[in-house]
Amino acid sequence: MGASTGSDGSNGSNGSSGSNGSSGSDGGDGGNGSEPTAFEPLPPLADHFPRSRKIEVGELAVPMREIALTDGGICTVYDTSGPQGCDVHAGLPKRRAAWIAARAGVATPTQLWFARQGVVTEEMQFIAIREGVEADFVRSEVARGRAIIPASIKHPELEPVIIGRNFLTKINANIGNSAIRSSIEEEVSKLQWSIRWGADTVMDLSTGEAINATREAILRNSPVPIGTVPIYQALEKVNGRVEDLSLPLFLETLEEQCEQGVDYFTIHAGVLMRTIPMTARRTTGIVSRGGSILAKWCLSHHKENFIYEGFEEICRLLARYDVSFSLGDGLRPGSIADANDEAQLTELAVLGELTKVAWEHNCQVMIEGPGHVPMNKIKENVDLQLELCHEAPFYTLGPLVTDIAPGYDHITSAIGAAMIGWYGTAMLCYVTPKEHLGLPDRQDVKDGVIAYKIAAHAADLAKGHPRAQERDDLLSKARFEFRWEDQFNLGLDPVTARSYHDETLPADNAKTAHFCSMCGPKFCSMRISQDIRDAAQASEAEAGMAAMSERFKEHGGEVYLPADSVSVDADLAIDTALITEAAGSQSGGQSGGQSGGQSGGQAGSQAGGHSEPTA
Ligand code: SF4
Repeated sequence: MGASTGSDGSNGSNGSSGSNGSSGSDGGDGGNGSEPTAFEPLPPLADHFPRSRKIEVGELAVPMREIALTDGGICTVYDTSGPQGCDVHAGLPKRRAAWIAARAGVATPTQLWFARQGVVTEEMQFIAIREGVEADFVRSEVARGRAIIPASIKHPELEPVIIGRNFLTKINANIGNSAIRSSIEEEVSKLQWSIRWGADTVMDLSTGEAINATREAILRNSPVPIGTVPIYQALEKVNGRVEDLSLPLFLETLEEQCEQGVDYFTIHAGVLMRTIPMTARRTTGIVSRGGSILAKWCLSHHKENFIYEGFEEICRLLARYDVSFSLGDGLRPGSIADANDEAQLTELAVLGELTKVAWEHNCQVMIEGPGHVPMNKIKENVDLQLELCHEAPFYTLGPLVTDIAPGYDHITSAIGAAMIGWYGTAMLCYVTPKEHLGLPDRQDVKDGVIAYKIAAHAADLAKGHPRAQERDDLLSKARFEFRWEDQFNLGLDPVTARSYHDETLPADNAKTAHFCSMCGPKFCSMRISQDIRDAAQASEAEAGMAAMSERFKEHGGEVYLPADSVSVDADLAIDTALITEAAGSQSGGQSGGQSGGQSGGQAGSQAGGHSEPTA
């Protein structure tokens, strides 16, 4: 899927190259000559998520993460991080092995086939617990093609996940070996890094000599579905000569990857002789690498796309392994100017036709989408996809809602991702800050995944997913009650949240203080709000409110006051001492915060021009 360019399944960047755990391009590995950032073994989970522990629920041992709160409460969250501490060379435990073995002899052992027979598989039961829904609802959504469970019968290490608009919105991250060949341990480390921060599926865009060994290591160590773009490996086999690609070679490549356990394939079957000319007047042409490869093949042979022609044969192969289709948008727009154009929408209709063909073969299908779309055209995209593709799950890259922010495309795309998720897109392919610019490093991957976790969760809230708001409410309560540790630990990235807080208030006792350096003690609106409540509860509610009103009037009836006009009560004096102490520990001895010149300890109460806190 590509953003600009993208990827095919990946998102990629227009040639920026590759993927080093990255958003890579549909180009896979690219070699842009950049030195990849080393991916070292991960620290223990508790280093990133303090007061968290992994648990397994029920007989199927469904993994979740429990966050212990300081008020004695527990918050249980969806967890993709997989078993911890396993030997990379031995791989993960094969939790699905017995489930799969019990189905031996079924000709088309796909989750779609079972769902249509009325069978609730173990994978469906597992997902029902994970998502907090009824198992038969999972089955019915799969049966009607509105959700898929990418779960190859050759991937027993998988913790099943569902992709569909009536479930939690999922996100994908991309990894792949780099131009300078990386070790297998490094590739597995990239996978582990992506899922630690919450990637629900991972696309392996590896290329090069060690592609099979790399993919094998990734699969044996992956608790999440793994997707690939097989045309890349097929092209490697013909030494990059597009003209030498053929259906037999492609089928051979697919079968090799099926045997290894890949869970879904990005396949560009919708790039056709009649649709290619529609890209001629575009601002950014064909930006999908897979799309451009197949367009070149079609034009050089003057023949129809061999993947389109051989689609039913491909279906028969994928059905044997329950490998899902991710029907690639080879003609996606690579710029705002090209959004929702004739080429894109004609291809989308072709993908809709192919969806029906795949369903006839009991294959599971999702549809890839753009890319670059301004906000006013996002809803139309989803509406058309639902109609033309018969409600098969939509899987989009972003989309980026503007092209003017290189270096910040994880933000421009997360805006579009949140919107398109809200309208019903089932999975969002991440974009990193390096999109269009270079090889993402470890921090870029984390930034991209976190940006997309925010977008996906925001979509789930807006869609009213039954359990989405629990965590928000717990965090809001912790925030209002000044339980700082809980506020950090309930967040997506506790360590970063704590470090920002501690920049200005590092002392331990600041973790119970009734303010932070943003507004300072005298102007902490939540503290004032609590004071009002406390006063109301201590006496008659009306009397309490009257007292506060009097106090307000005593100060001239102004919401904001110069600091020197306000008398400091005993509690405030303690807090002020605390923040003064914290400020003293800062370099330069300056008091307080630095955010926008607004905040910080006493400074927060002095600055004439206050800005409102977001709290
Ligand atoms: S941001 Fe302002 S209102 Fe919120 S906790 Fe900090 S000081 Fe209080």
